[in-house]
Amino acid sequence: MKQSPFSALPLPQELLNTLSDLGYLTMTPIQAQSLPAILEGRDVIGQGKTGSGKTAAFGLGLLARLEVKRFCVQSLVLCPTRELADQVANEIRKLGRGIHNIKVLTLCGGQPLGPQIGSLEHGAHIIVGTPGRVEEHLRKGTLNLDKLNMLVLDEADRMLEMGFQASVDAIIDMAPSTRQTLLFSATYPEQIQAIANKVMKDPLRVTAGQRHDDASIEEHFYCITGDSQRLQATRLLLLQAEPESALVFANTKREVQSLCDNLRHHGFSVAALHGDLEQKERDLTLVQFANKSVVVLVATDVAARGLDIESVDAVINYHLARDADVHLHRVGRTGRAGGKGQAHTLFSDNERYRLGLLEDHIDREISAEPLPSERSLNRQPPVPTMATMQIDGGKKDKLRPGDIVGALTGEHGIDGNQVGKIMLTPNRAYVAVKREAAKRALKKLNEGKLKGRSFRARLIA
Ligand code: ADP
Ligand code: MG
Repeated sequence: MKQSPFSALPLPQELLNTLSDLGYLTMTPIQAQSLPAILEGRDVIGQGKTGSGKTAAFGLGLLARLEVKRFCVQSLVLCPTRELADQVANEIRKLGRGIHNIKVLTLCGGQPLGPQIGSLEHGAHIIVGTPGRVEEHLRKGTLNLDKLNMLVLDEADRMLEMGFQASVDAIIDMAPSTRQTLLFSATYPEQIQAIANKVMKDPLRVTAGQRHDDASIEEHFYCITGDSQRLQATRLLLLQAEPESALVFANTKREVQSLCDNLRHHGFSVAALHGDLEQKERDLTLVQFANKSVVVLVATDVAARGLDIESVDAVINYHLARDADVHLHRVGRTGRAGGKGQAHTLFSDNERYRLGLLEDHIDREISAEPLPSERSLNRQPPVPTMATMQIDGGKKDKLRPGDIVGALTGEHGIDGNQVGKIMLTPNRAYVAVKREAAKRALKKLNEGKLKGRSFRARLIA
């Protein structure tokens, strides 16, 4: 692959400086293919898997067009979830930090309207939000898109899967027709093509793979005869893989829940992720999985997409995915960042047809392997490497990660390298520590002080 430096692009010097500070030296393939056209003002459809660098592709595009002195909404990025909107907004802020006075605002559902209206009154250049809430602000008249010159639909396929089609249509209707439109998606189903035909002008379509090479993923397939065998197979494969983190994909909420219950019954460290969880439960589950306090996450495709999780050791497909793109997307969750990954797919005879389609898509014959034997796997389920402590204090108490690390590692404390991820919410902190150090860490926190005050801490996983 040819390496193209960002400096070859007609980008403002502030952006080039920031890119080099961030260590973004060369463009990823999707950036190299899309950015020249984006900077010329063309509509672009970018298809690339998770991790291919789509955010910076559109982020640089909209930042390059931005006129900071004009204090009005010039770009709007629509994302399927609050979590993704936060990630995108942060990436844009990061890329735009060399531009003075730039204001990026997130507008997402599940959060009070009042403060959002207040922030809108103060003005913003770039809005990143979920379709439902953005539409609500447009209808209330608290958001105005008259000066919009860039509309981005990020993870467009997923927004549709989540039922946002009507809101997206309504928002597009209220945006000026002179705008530039960028659409990014991991897959390119028919409904997306339909949207593209309807709302984009002579779009350039670019496709690029992930940043990892597929050679780092070992794929295995198993033919299964019934649901009880599926459960047993999942268990055996997890015992065999002994992962630190594993993702199991199931098709429905019910399947996710029953699979999770079954694995828990067999002693696995496991959590479920599906659309019915409250935002808080979802956030907490993700924190514990990402910080390695939970080994197995069972999830539906919709719930798992866009998860900000570096890489897992193993992916198990409890059923064959409904199409080849979804399969590749799931499998792409493992083997990233240069690590080795394994993917195991269970299918039954009535899924053979879809298996054939997958074979065509990857242009390779798939052969089923025998399942590992129960006898050879006479061992305990893998134990999480970390434990999560919850501290009853957060950003509102002015706690920062550094305060917590300081309190944990002081006299009679634990080693710095035993501290894992720290997540702060307004009222809580979630701290991962090595499992063997958990007791001491807890004692240290409960007996010591943070910012001169005592906070209660307890182990939650
Ligand atoms: P996508 O939206 O395609 O799933 P992201 O935009 O979230 O992927 O990018 C994945 C990661 O790659 C991010 O951590 C981002 O900071 C990083 N990244 C993006 N572009 C580059 C680049 N040109 N060089 C180095 N890292 C990059
Ligand atoms: Mg993305």
